Amino acid sequence: MTPATTFSGRTVALFGLGGSGLATAKALVAGGAIVAAWDDAQAKRDEAAAAGVPVVDLASADWSAYAALVLSPGVPLTHPAPHWTVERAKAAGIEIIGDIELFCRERRRSAPDAPFISITGTNGKSTTTALLAHILREAGIEVAMGGNIGTPILDLPPPSDERVHVVEVSSFQIDLTPSIDPTIGCLINITPDHLDRHGTLEDYAAIKERLVAGARTALVGVDDDPTNAIGKRLSQREGADVYPVSAQGERPWGFFALGREIRARNAGETLEEALVLADIEGVESLRGRHNAQNAAFACAAAWLAGVPPEAIRAGVRTFPGLAHRMEQAGTRGRVRFVNDSKATNAKSTEVALAAFERVHWILGGKPKAGGISALAPHFGKIAKAYLIGAATEAFAATLEGHVPFERCGTLDVAVARAAADAAATGEDEVVLFSPACASYDQFRNFEERGERFKALVAALP
Ligand code: ADP
Repeated sequence: MTPATTFSGRTVALFGLGGSGLATAKALVAGGAIVAAWDDAQAKRDEAAAAGVPVVDLASADWSAYAALVLSPGVPLTHPAPHWTVERAKAAGIEIIGDIELFCRERRRSAPDAPFISITGTNGKSTTTALLAHILREAGIEVAMGGNIGTPILDLPPPSDERVHVVEVSSFQIDLTPSIDPTIGCLINITPDHLDRHGTLEDYAAIKERLVAGARTALVGVDDDPTNAIGKRLSQREGADVYPVSAQGERPWGFFALGREIRARNAGETLEEALVLADIEGVESLRGRHNAQNAAFACAAAWLAGVPPEAIRAGVRTFPGLAHRMEQAGTRGRVRFVNDSKATNAKSTEVALAAFERVHWILGGKPKAGGISALAPHFGKIAKAYLIGAATEAFAATLEGHVPFERCGTLDVAVARAAADAAATGEDEVVLFSPACASYDQFRNFEERGERFKALVAALP
């Protein structure tokens, strides 16, 4: 744990006691703050109280008594309670921050030179973060990885010159981190995906820009207009240390993917002189064009962090990939099973379908607006579809007349049916579980759903 000492001896309100909220509350308590924490869920309040965190109903709070409101990034701002909490905190003129801000303050106080690499973007954050952490670890460097992926940042060991913090941050987390100052900041891409929270694309881009604007060294994507504009703006600043990163071929300088090769090039060098940092050809966990972008960022950050190219090359080739994202879940005979449970919408499933020639496709769950009609260009490669969950009838209607399908009800039945059909062809086959739906109708979350799929595959004869 990293104690948060910035509010030592002062009173702090905290809203949201989920994973990172509880970690934050504990870190504040350990740092000597007088914490008043709240969550609308009784179970979360009980868990916090049992962990020694004082629970106080913030509805009746005297806001003038608080030094800050610490907000959990998991709390949607549309939620009525945090909305009024935020309004009252604003009216009282106190700062509203999150766990990443507490980490940054702690780092500046205790270990200002501690390596701190932070990654954001609309897509590819987790893959880039996990790949970078893997490359660094394989190179013998101690890594603390977390933030928006896996472990909450304040549950990680404290910042230190001896280890590298590799931290994924969402827009909402950046929004709550006014003094974010990573040693290396990565902004992968900006597309209009998550505008529900941030209003306009301009607001959303402005928040993401703050991560790289605050970084000592910035890696900024150039493959979409918003990030390209940000990179140009940052480069014009006095003393700027900004590198462009592209997945769309050769660039005059910076980092880029040329085919499946990731290269680093100094201005004035010929393409032949540009250093090859990695080759991702044949790396299963990095299939697809989008992963060339993620790999370019991870390799660039590793290179800037001092990892030699041989070690970057080797690390990339052993990247196991992330659980539930096009994860290899095993093979039975000539049938390969792929777990893409993280694909909770049609857009994510499209990336998965695009990566294969022919699949037995398990899909369904709690459907999203638009369904799967956008996936029609890929219907020709579906050997058969196996439908589960609440989406069954809606998806059946879309597939009718285009793709053979079967109503399976549950994932258990779907895996058994797909495995049997795929094995019966006697050919090389892929069973892809890419549901294009949320999981909540039958599972707690996409992780539980993916674990179930893997367990079912493991139990196949
Ligand atoms: P994030 O953490 O930003 O949600 P992930 O690395 O977990 O991203 O990838 C989630 C999904 O987003 C992937 O399954 C893929 O569909 C898509 N994706 C990943 N990287 C990119 C990228 N660089 N550009 C566009 N889409 C991507």
